[in-house]
Amino acid sequence: MDLSMSRASEPGVPASSALVRRAYRRQLLIGALALAMLAFATLVLLVEVQLNEEVEARYQQAISIALQSLDAHHLDSVSASVSARARQATEHSRFLNLIARYTLALVTLLAVSFGSVFGVLMWRAQTASREVMAALDRMAREDGLTGITNRRGLDEGLTIEVARARRSGLDLTVVMLDLDHFKRYNDRRGHGAGDSLLRNAAQAWRRQLRPTDLLARYGGEEFTLLLAACDADAACQLIERLRPLMPDRQTFSAGVATWEQHESPEQLLGRADRALLVAKKQGRNRTIVSGRESQMTLPLQTALGT
Ligand code: GH3
Ligand code: MG
Ligand code: MG
Repeated sequence: MDLSMSRASEPGVPASSALVRRAYRRQLLIGALALAMLAFATLVLLVEVQLNEEVEARYQQAISIALQSLDAHHLDSVSASVSARARQATEHSRFLNLIARYTLALVTLLAVSFGSVFGVLMWRAQTASREVMAALDRMAREDGLTGITNRRGLDEGLTIEVARARRSGLDLTVVMLDLDHFKRYNDRRGHGAGDSLLRNAAQAWRRQLRPTDLLARYGGEEFTLLLAACDADAACQLIERLRPLMPDRQTFSAGVATWEQHESPEQLLGRADRALLVAKKQGRNRTIVSGRESQMTLPLQTALGT
């Protein structure tokens, strides 16, 4: 049994992150469009101001010509020409101002709409990416077949629980479980039936545990229990409650180890694994506690085919 702390691969990560990247790119494009529209609206506003200044200048020019012409002999013809030019300038500027105002209103409306869509999409993308990250996080720690914690989750949980036991001084007990002659079970009933047994057993066991206990699939037909604030005797009682939950009278062997001061997570797991090997050697379908190898719980039922 390989006890090195390997890390599981994370299928689906590249595809999901590409999706998130594409969504962000789309929203950035809409944001850029909104900004461009706002810039255009500002430009139209500047043009309108410029137009107003031009009209003002023409009025001033027309008035000064009119004043200069007050003394002139041809007052009537000059004043007629001045008023014609003033009228022309007024109509021209009114038309341009109207176009500028409508364009400004339209562009502002579009910019605000695009800005709002951009904001909503941005918010939705952030929510979606948070959900995707949470789902990936869950998937990275979940065993696909049984739905319980996988090896990666176990490694993390064990490190946390050992640190907690060190601080609290409470017992931390680790149990390694291995199904007996499971190869035979597969050979006789088929791999699909074997998969169902693993799934059903894991789900049934999980319902028996406290919320602070952790059940993980160590790999293949091997499981690990992390029992916080639990000594070896309480762990043995729990194991006996788990045995009858196995479908088809399938049996398993168990190795139990309680954390000792200064022991690393790997050393603790190693002791539970060695106790499991002793249980196998002594005939299977039994529990061995590390340090009490001469004692064992009596087999409750016979392993399939033995
Ligand atoms: P022992 O009592 O010594 O543990 O015998 P065993 O047959 O259980 O152990 P062995 O290591 O020889 O074989 C383990 C078997 O577990 C081999 C494989 O068919 C089965 N197994 C491992 N993973 C799975 C799985 O995901 N699904 C199914 N159906 N079977 C699995
Ligand atoms: Mg095995
Ligand atoms: Mg086995």
